[in-house]
Amino acid sequence: MSALPSTAKAVIIGAGIVGNSMAYHLAQLGWTNLVQIDKGPLPNPGGSTGHASNFIFPVDHSKEMAALTFDSVAQYKALGVFTECGGIEVARTQERMQELQRRMTSAKSWGIGDVSIVSPAEVKELVPYIDESVIVGGFYTKGVGVVDSLRAGTLMREKAQEMGALTVGANVEVTGMTVDDGRIKTVHTNSGDIDTEYVVIACGVWSPHLAEMAGAKIPLTPAVHQMMDIGPAPRFADAKGDIEFPIVRDMDTNMYERQHGTGLEIGSYAHRPILYDPEDLPSVEEASLSPTEFPFTPDDFEIQLEQSLELMPEIVGDETVGQKYAINGLLSLTPDGMPVLGEAPEVKGLWSVAAVWIKEGPGIGRAVSEWMVLGQSEIDLHASDIARFYDHQKTREHIKQRTAEGFNKTYGIVHPSEQWASNRGVRVSPYYSRQKELGAQFYEAVGWERPQWYGSNESLLAEYGDRVMPRTAEWESRWWSPIINAEHLALRDRAGIVDLTAFAIFDVVGPGALDALQRIALRQMDVNVGKVVYTPVLGENGGFKSDLTIMRLGDEHFRVVTGGAHGMADKKWFADRMPSDGSAVLTDLTSALTTIGIWGPRARDIVSDVTSADLSHAGFGFGTCRRVEMGPLEVLASRISYVGELGWELYVPMEQGARLWDLLWEAATPHDAVPVGIGVYASTGRLEKGYRAYGAELESEFTVVEAGMSPPKVKSADFIGKEAYLRHRDEDPAAILCTLTVDDHKGPDGQLRYMMGGEPIVAKDGSALVDSHGRRSYVTSAGSGPSVGKHLLMSYLPPEQAVVGCELMVDYLGHSYPVSVATVDAQPLFDPKNERILS
Ligand SMILES: Cc1cc2nc3c(=O)[nH]c(=O)nc-3n(C[C@H](O)[C@H](O)[C@H](O)COP(=O)(O)OP(=O)(O)OC[C@H]3O[C@@H](n4cnc5c(N)ncnc54)[C@H](O)[C@@H]3O)c2cc1C
Repeated sequence: MSALPSTAKAVIIGAGIVGNSMAYHLAQLGWTNLVQIDKGPLPNPGGSTGHASNFIFPVDHSKEMAALTFDSVAQYKALGVFTECGGIEVARTQERMQELQRRMTSAKSWGIGDVSIVSPAEVKELVPYIDESVIVGGFYTKGVGVVDSLRAGTLMREKAQEMGALTVGANVEVTGMTVDDGRIKTVHTNSGDIDTEYVVIACGVWSPHLAEMAGAKIPLTPAVHQMMDIGPAPRFADAKGDIEFPIVRDMDTNMYERQHGTGLEIGSYAHRPILYDPEDLPSVEEASLSPTEFPFTPDDFEIQLEQSLELMPEIVGDETVGQKYAINGLLSLTPDGMPVLGEAPEVKGLWSVAAVWIKEGPGIGRAVSEWMVLGQSEIDLHASDIARFYDHQKTREHIKQRTAEGFNKTYGIVHPSEQWASNRGVRVSPYYSRQKELGAQFYEAVGWERPQWYGSNESLLAEYGDRVMPRTAEWESRWWSPIINAEHLALRDRAGIVDLTAFAIFDVVGPGALDALQRIALRQMDVNVGKVVYTPVLGENGGFKSDLTIMRLGDEHFRVVTGGAHGMADKKWFADRMPSDGSAVLTDLTSALTTIGIWGPRARDIVSDVTSADLSHAGFGFGTCRRVEMGPLEVLASRISYVGELGWELYVPMEQGARLWDLLWEAATPHDAVPVGIGVYASTGRLEKGYRAYGAELESEFTVVEAGMSPPKVKSADFIGKEAYLRHRDEDPAAILCTLTVDDHKGPDGQLRYMMGGEPIVAKDGSALVDSHGRRSYVTSAGSGPSVGKHLLMSYLPPEQAVVGCELMVDYLGHSYPVSVATVDAQPLFDPKNERILS
């Protein structure tokens, strides 16, 4: 047993690719007195890293994952453990070819070069042992490669040790953790205890078990991914290295084939989901192979063998080629398919770096280390943040259902708006039964069932005719309805009622509340009681952590309202910044309050019917809130708008919501108002007004100045990110957020096509637009603008292109479409003077 220190700055548990990357990067960033332990022997302690196929395809539709993988490849190359071999994702169907075209656009958006669509004959040239008659084409990425992940880990550990920063303990098992006053205190091992400021759980499939030791949750499940190694194959008899031929991903069968020396590795994501619990995992001593390699279940691989035989008959069909090795290997699956990174909301100092693959391991190691040491990572990690989960999303039932559904989508064609089918109906608003009667098409937002549009509004289609911008192409019509655009027009003509129950809401109360919020929010919070402030929330680098509204309800009472999707991460950000003396306290009211939005030119008339309060513009100004009586209810009404119309958000206790809905509904009917889904609220309405959304336009990589959200004055109070923000105000922005319109939708087959977001904006000659920080222009949000009769795209453009009228192109599914800049900065396209909101 290794002699371990009894105190540490940080204890890193796990010596797979993730733990090793963390040890290296924490040391690189200057932390010393680091201890890394693993219950297994080194260099292969028996985790998933030891049996990975070790290949990396760099193109991903997620910008975050692509950036992390890009950085990882650079790190593997610097360590000398990367072998470039190229890779081809092959298509057996035309639908898949369209998906491969989508991958081309993602590659261009994220700046991944050397990619091309290839014909079956070209695939055959690259991979001579393939039967090209089975496929219709492929997507070739030259930069695909394999790594030696165990060697990489050893090198990273050694570098941290050479820096004098790291003590490594192999064959040391963590048996428990002590938490004191909400902070991690001690790690208990079978080799003694270590008092520590930080713990990093880098335990792959064991991570939930480790988190539990400290009273926290890491929502992932161990899941089987089957892999078989066959060989030696005559074709590879002269193989000199690990790999000489491109890796093939047979996307439509959910499989891959990878030459490995003289053999061929065949991996599958096509079998039934085989999920385990972390406590089912055997110890190193008990395991027949390793703790993460379960005995192979051949029945689950039967169809896959036939499919690989179809594609590679020369190798798989050769009876002289034997089976070398076959496993039910374990990897981690999460309910939404993204990693689980960051400090656990339950325990200070307890960090999760879990559900990470070889391909993104070192990049994530760097990013999470930056987050721990510097408070923020260069690559925005919001989609992987452990704080994103609500409690119900961390239950085993939810994890099991979603991962079972998601497993076969690993290579799936996943539409950007695709909805989960499993474990629905977990959170329903007080209006749910009424909405069902109205034919609501429910989409899910963090468990809430939210109407995206209402079947009852179908009659509006005739009223608005072609103004609903009908779509004919299947891809863009999927998970979409022209009713959304009809609802939009009816809201602008009359009024619409929107269910906003999914908001996350927390109160900050106490004598220290104002100071705390001044420190968190960019905008002035020392405002009159009854003011509503829409404000960016920044990280230290001046990039966005969030954007949200804060109502001042009393001298020492503020209410924070934020989007449901990011609500729990915002809650952690705020809660972590409450004063340590207890002079301000944050209370989560998300499940206590429900919100209805009512907007449109008739909104005042409708609400006036249910209240005697003065709702005139002079009596109830824009950006103010107050309590008003509506029938038997006391309602907090807030006059703001995310759709660009006169109206209010109305807040009541959850159990009174149904009554509020009924009151409004009755008053709204004579005005021909309609129920309006989130399709309008989150997309069409906001895009016409150029309103930004966190996670789309607003990320830590963009500044307030670039987003065009800079208030004329800077408040004198200090706030997080102020120094960076002041600098950004003094500089010329490297990019400027613009709204563009699509000028011609006609695709190669004559159909009109509508972009969906994520596509590259390019110059007229097709060349990429790259700003002075090296960032490429891509569509941050896309959607219909029915009132302006245009399809709208938002994108950050370099200043030279951020000029109204500038003509550019957008690449979409293999074709370029002309676009032009319609507005620059926050200038709305619809009602630019905001007369409607201010009426
Ligand atoms: C068959 C297969 C093929 C794969 N191929 C690829 C691929 O080609 N490309 C790719 O990107 N990904 C691939 N993966 C996924 C990849 O292997 C994993 O995502 C990755 O290895 C996880 O690394 P990790 O460091 O998080 O976990 P691990 O490598 O599992 O390391 C976790 C470590 O924690 C230690 N530990 C656990 N509990 C304790 C405790 N109580 N005390 C001390 N130590 C503890 C374990 O011993 C283990 O060493 C594949 C997975 C499988 C199953």
